[in-house]
Amino acid sequence: MSERLAYRTCPLCEATCGLEIRLVDEDVKVIRGDRDNPFSNGFVCPKGTVLGRLHNDPDRVRTPLIKRDGVHVEATWEEAFAEVHRGINDVKDQHGSQALALYIGNPNAHSYQNNLAIRPLAKSLGSPNIFSASTLDQMPKHVSAGYMFGSPSTIPVPDIDRTDLLVILGANPYESNGSLATAPDWPGRLEALRERGGRIVVVDPRRTKTAENASQYLPIVPGTDAALLMAIIHVLFDESLVRLGRLEAHLAGVDDIAAAALPFDPETAATVTGIAADTIRSLARDIASAERAAVYGRIGTHTVEFGTIASWAVDVIAALTGNLDEPGGMMFPFALHQSATKRKRGFMTGRWRSRVRDLPEVLGELPASTMIDEMTEPGDGQIRALITVGGNPALTSPDSEALDGALASLEFMVSVDPYLNETTRHADVLLPPPSALEKSHYDIAFTTLSVRNYAMWSAPVYARPEEHPSELDILVTLTAIMSGAPADADPEALAEATLAGQVGSAVAAPGSPIEGRDPAEVLEALAVHPEVTERFLDLMIRTSARGDGFGAEPDGWTLERLQQHEHGVDLGPLESRIPEVLATPSDMVELAPEAIVADLDRLASSLAARPEGFVLVGRRELQSNNSWLHNIEVLVKGRNRCTLRVHPDDAEELELADGSPATVTSSVGTVTVEVEVHDEMMAGVVSLPYGWGHAQDGSRLRVASERPGVNTNVLTDRTRIDPLSGNAVLNGIPVEVAPA
Ligand code: SF4
Repeated sequence: MSERLAYRTCPLCEATCGLEIRLVDEDVKVIRGDRDNPFSNGFVCPKGTVLGRLHNDPDRVRTPLIKRDGVHVEATWEEAFAEVHRGINDVKDQHGSQALALYIGNPNAHSYQNNLAIRPLAKSLGSPNIFSASTLDQMPKHVSAGYMFGSPSTIPVPDIDRTDLLVILGANPYESNGSLATAPDWPGRLEALRERGGRIVVVDPRRTKTAENASQYLPIVPGTDAALLMAIIHVLFDESLVRLGRLEAHLAGVDDIAAAALPFDPETAATVTGIAADTIRSLARDIASAERAAVYGRIGTHTVEFGTIASWAVDVIAALTGNLDEPGGMMFPFALHQSATKRKRGFMTGRWRSRVRDLPEVLGELPASTMIDEMTEPGDGQIRALITVGGNPALTSPDSEALDGALASLEFMVSVDPYLNETTRHADVLLPPPSALEKSHYDIAFTTLSVRNYAMWSAPVYARPEEHPSELDILVTLTAIMSGAPADADPEALAEATLAGQVGSAVAAPGSPIEGRDPAEVLEALAVHPEVTERFLDLMIRTSARGDGFGAEPDGWTLERLQQHEHGVDLGPLESRIPEVLATPSDMVELAPEAIVADLDRLASSLAARPEGFVLVGRRELQSNNSWLHNIEVLVKGRNRCTLRVHPDDAEELELADGSPATVTSSVGTVTVEVEVHDEMMAGVVSLPYGWGHAQDGSRLRVASERPGVNTNVLTDRTRIDPLSGNAVLNGIPVEVAPA
């Protein structure tokens, strides 16, 4: 009997916990939290323990599939890429490259190989039709960060380990494990906050588990967080509570904010938010008077009509109270692979617009909400072929029944995904990536959002089967096909050529740590890594602010040095980074970006009346992760979790009993779902979890299909978006509820 331990980062959510995996005879026996990991300290949630089950899931696709006569059959990689070549080129020849589209799913953020390869793939399409899960999630944060700090990826995170007051809006990190604020063990960190005498305030329409553990809970009408936040800003000026502190010389637009906040007095905000004016005033005073305070808004504040305003307002409050870029406030992480300075180029949207609804491009993408329109509206540029890489938009995108029909109408579709799910069942070709345990891992995305600077390299737990291409090779081959190369182009050679190009750019770039060096010498140094993916990552690390500059800084970091830390490495608490982190043309924090201030008129108009009737919000559960993990028995067994939670008073009025069926009807659809009477709900608000609605013909999710649940996105309306970011409105959906 052989036995070994492997250590790796959990790739399932943003918390990036370190895992200890015990293998006996190469079978995963136990997965637990790695107690020697300096960031997660042994924390693990139920999801992290199932990586072995995911690897062994009989429904996980291991071989490419091609649809023949409506049925997916196994194929070789050569056959599959040849079919992709044929299908894509047929569409290009007939309709032009604008008929191609790409959907980038959330799992891409959890794979450094995809992080490296996805943008070149998007560019290779030669089409404006690039979509991603970002416009179903966090795009408002990118937009507000772009306008304020000059880069959409310069996102301040709450310094939860050092703050005295944490205000959480629209987030439930006890169950989601946090988002846009990477922190393993949120529950433990929040408990530590309380133990050191700090306070936690939760603002949410649902008394979530996080709210249960807070010092103060404020129920709020869904979708009105922006009004609350503007009222807080109003009070800060009205009561002379503004303290700019160290950043005063770096803040532009303070007077403009004061003027813009005038219409948002607490009394008016109270009528729409449901939070009393005195409570709003007290909250503003508490934030202003706390020695260190952080205001953190997440999914419930972003996936609404005023998502960008809400996202911007939390950072404005931080700046106005001296909590931006200060320990215990909202701070900018500094990842191991990042450069010290940003290029000063500013931020803009609308470089192109969508064909049907004339919606502006944001971050090189169009809103996922308009994919349906672009697929179904005839005319030049109508999408006829789609590539999906991860994600399951058939469940996670608005108006999902219409999207399902639109996907079925495409002439060609190829998906990179480990499952035949509700989206990929429409694919003509399915290209499965290796399993999570067959891949190396480094968090490019989440180390830039981490509440403590930290890095970890994870080697693959299992060797990838010889015939199975890496994720990078799959995406590079697709990129080559899009660019007109033959189907049998050698992905390794293409990746090597790209790496050589990057090295060439780095040595030619003025101010680069390797400016003027011999590219051949740099490539030779990178060749210590057998996998080209590792060579890309090593180049990033060695040319970063902490890198060794290929020998110029002998104490600097290399991938090889990181690989010696099998439990990960702590790089210290977050440090103040303004002004070096700013990339605005003015070199200032732009507190009052024109586009956002202009949108305040729309918010002011919304203050006129509190919405009538019921509204629907989403719900996150610890065992679930968007639309997947429902195929893992241990995570879904037990009581039905896909229920409609209804406040007891509402249930009585509607004559709904616990366990009885109800119909929920919106402007676009109806679902029938089991009722769960629950006093955690605010009266007038009902809740459904996100990502359910399985058991569709052609999918292969045997466990999930036994407990399909209902898809909340049957009810969401694709025409409702946050106009600045294009983000879908997935919360605060007006609905009618009735006994079924
Ligand atoms: S909290 Fe997230 S990263 Fe940690 S074990 Fe759970 S799923 Fe994995």
